[in-house]
Amino acid sequence: MGGGTAGWMAASALAHEFKRLPISITLVESDEIGTVGVGEATLPHIRNFNTALNIDEVTFMKATEATFKLGIEFCNWGRIGDRYIHPFGDYGEKIDGIPFYQHWLRLQKLGLASRLDDYAFPTSIAEANRFRHPSTDPTRIESTYGYAYQFDATRYAAFLRQFAEARGVVRRQGKVVDTRLDAETGHVAALTLDSGEVVAADLYVDCSGFRGLLIEQALKTGYDDWSQWLPCNRALAVPCESRGTLTPFTRATALEAGWQWRIPLQHRTGNGYVYCSSFISDEDASRRLLGNLDAPALADPRQLYFTTGRRKKLWNRNVVAIGLAAGFLEPLESTSIHLIQEGISELLHIFPDKRFLQSDIDEYNRRMGVNFERVRDFLLLHYAATQRDDTEMWRHFRNLKLPDSLEEKIQIWLTRGQLIRYEFGVFLPPSWVAVMLGQNLLPRHYDPRVDRMAHDTLVQNAEGLRQRVNAAVSATPDHKDYIRQMGAASDTGPLIAQAV
Ligand SMILES: Cc1cc2nc3c(=O)[nH]c(=O)nc-3n(C[C@H](O)[C@H](O)[C@H](O)COP(=O)(O)OP(=O)(O)OC[C@H]3O[C@@H](n4cnc5c(N)ncnc54)[C@H](O)[C@@H]3O)c2cc1C
Repeated sequence: MGGGTAGWMAASALAHEFKRLPISITLVESDEIGTVGVGEATLPHIRNFNTALNIDEVTFMKATEATFKLGIEFCNWGRIGDRYIHPFGDYGEKIDGIPFYQHWLRLQKLGLASRLDDYAFPTSIAEANRFRHPSTDPTRIESTYGYAYQFDATRYAAFLRQFAEARGVVRRQGKVVDTRLDAETGHVAALTLDSGEVVAADLYVDCSGFRGLLIEQALKTGYDDWSQWLPCNRALAVPCESRGTLTPFTRATALEAGWQWRIPLQHRTGNGYVYCSSFISDEDASRRLLGNLDAPALADPRQLYFTTGRRKKLWNRNVVAIGLAAGFLEPLESTSIHLIQEGISELLHIFPDKRFLQSDIDEYNRRMGVNFERVRDFLLLHYAATQRDDTEMWRHFRNLKLPDSLEEKIQIWLTRGQLIRYEFGVFLPPSWVAVMLGQNLLPRHYDPRVDRMAHDTLVQNAEGLRQRVNAAVSATPDHKDYIRQMGAASDTGPLIAQAV
């Protein structure tokens, strides 16, 4: 149900996994309703999705106007004027079996450390606007990172539509005007389109977007509203011309009542202001957004409304909600498409038969529920770990009672830089290190095992690492040139025009 990014990703993955099995897939979408039409920044896991479907990287990048993404640059989050990158990779390499950042904390206390970023290869190439694919040699510093893409999500859905239809998915265009429930089981039994056509299935994947046509409107599943922690509830999105340097990273700049994204694609730059309507009017938010663009706008800002949170059950009876129908957290760390992917992967893992065992459903809900909560805590960290108090919104966050899970994580970090390991969750320790340190949460002590190493040896090791990073950065090509050279510039985009 639904043909946005979520619908076509789900249809493609199911068609691919169930080829040669007697399972048929129908996708219903309405041209009249359309899709949400935003969603451009991703996490490295998207590559696993494409690889599992045998999608060629160059073909995909050309079709979606994609650029490479090494991480996210956060501006003005800790304090106005602060800037740090959350990279998709590690800080340096382990020394003596202990993560490099712990050694850095010791050096930092001694006043002998350079910026932590100077030891991180992905951050250093991002800052220099360079890119190359990671090395497969684990002894090289050029192997210490992953990468994602910045792409046009609408084109990605169209690209996957071709993929899915070529593998037997049948598309029905029309508006669903009625949903019939089975009187005995309460399961969704059939959908009626505005043409009068009836579509019936055993399993329904609800990718109908914010409205949650099946999971909410038909099954009344309920929604866990997380606005008390993530109060931003509106966004304005506007594309602008692509000019100048093509940055291999997304930027998130904290503003008075939310934050602004900047996502460079090949053919345009995506921008948007995510804000809380209690702290700014739509008109002021629009003015602020347009005033911050680095090139002329290509359209009028588009308004979006949302409530952060998730369905109480992501799988209810014979309906699995994926994408915006499942829930929405701010796009601050580009997690929505990732949660779509996670939902599809868990569904494939626990694929039901016609009995719809409650134990399968409960397990899916447990796993996906925790995934959503982990993302929520990570997003909230950006707002909570702030020294800003210049506007009502920032003062609100400074006085906020955090979820226990996040409070505990922060307190243990502050003691001696340890990070509690989670059972699930997309963000691994280096991501937490990036945001904690990037927003000035400096631990009081470091891991005592670090003192095993002689002081001079540590200083030499760190300096050697910094020099290796520098040398490797110099040998890395410019991001834009690299896209051209690998043949991934889209046929119509400005990268081709500039190369001629
Ligand atoms: C402001 C904002 C910024 C975002 N930025 C990012 C980002 O940078 N990175 C990221 O990963 N994600 C981002 N997202 C999330 C991302 O846009 C979505 O996760 C993604 O587009 C998936 O949307 P969807 O397919 O669930 O829903 P939609 O795109 O809304 O698709 C819903 C589908 O259901 C169909 N439909 C609905 N009702 C009916 C009906 N009655 N009959 C027939 N068809 C119907 C529609 O026609 C459509 O095909 C962002 C979201 C917002 C709001």
